[in-house]
Amino acid sequence: MPGADDHLRRALADDGVDLVLADNPSPMTLDGTNSYVLRSQDGDSALLLDPGPRLTEHRDALVRTVGSAELTAIILTHRHADHSGLLETAADWAPGVPVHAVDPTFASGTQPLVDGQTIAFGTADADVATIIATPGHTDDSVSVVHGDRLFSGDTVLGRGTTMVSFPDGSLGDYLASLERLIALEAAGDVRTIAPAHGEQREDVADLLAHYLSHRQERIRQVQDVLASGRSTAEEVADVVYADVPDSVKPAALQIVRAQLAYIESLGD
Ligand SMILES: [Zn+2]
Repeated sequence: MPGADDHLRRALADDGVDLVLADNPSPMTLDGTNSYVLRSQDGDSALLLDPGPRLTEHRDALVRTVGSAELTAIILTHRHADHSGLLETAADWAPGVPVHAVDPTFASGTQPLVDGQTIAFGTADADVATIIATPGHTDDSVSVVHGDRLFSGDTVLGRGTTMVSFPDGSLGDYLASLERLIALEAAGDVRTIAPAHGEQREDVADLLAHYLSHRQERIRQVQDVLASGRSTAEEVADVVYADVPDSVKPAALQIVRAQLAYIESLGD
């Protein structure tokens, strides 16, 4: 629904948030990586969420978007290169700007991120980003709450479903992270989702419920396949992910490995 997305993009802009879409579309990244620039209330400073892939045009677009504002913080939602790649040259385009990341490999000028941490990027009370640890897609995945918007990284995407990397991610962690986001929405703390790939969403409760039920349904399907005597990840993927295009097959195989590890962890 392009019309609905236009409306949500305008809502982003009204809240002082610019979406800068990187030109790295693929079956895994959808239209490409969404980098976000959050502006302070007075417009004097800004926070960059997910620098994105190492593409010169994307770097230039980010620098242009920040404009004359002072970039006071960078937050990385997780380590994957389509989010972190541009950090390799951060000394050139964001010298001295602290990089907040769970993975110490990427954190710079500050301690690694922890759950519940708040990062002020301006002088107003509202110029704050709150970190919600949402491991699962990877073990270093975080989401960020600013105002009543959840920047979900790859934990929840604007369309389709996300993958659980394996062995970096964990399906048990991922299910717990979805439950946590569902609780945030139920408490009224989150009204829209700004994902790292795909469209803005305001049907947050439905979207999260769908994500959870989809995962649970897949687990049941895998359990059925196992019960039928097939046991390798390849055998399971051939049945449960029979319909995915070849380009997504490696991702499907990783998810199956995560599912098998999860089912094994349940015991019986
Ligand atoms: Zn990712």
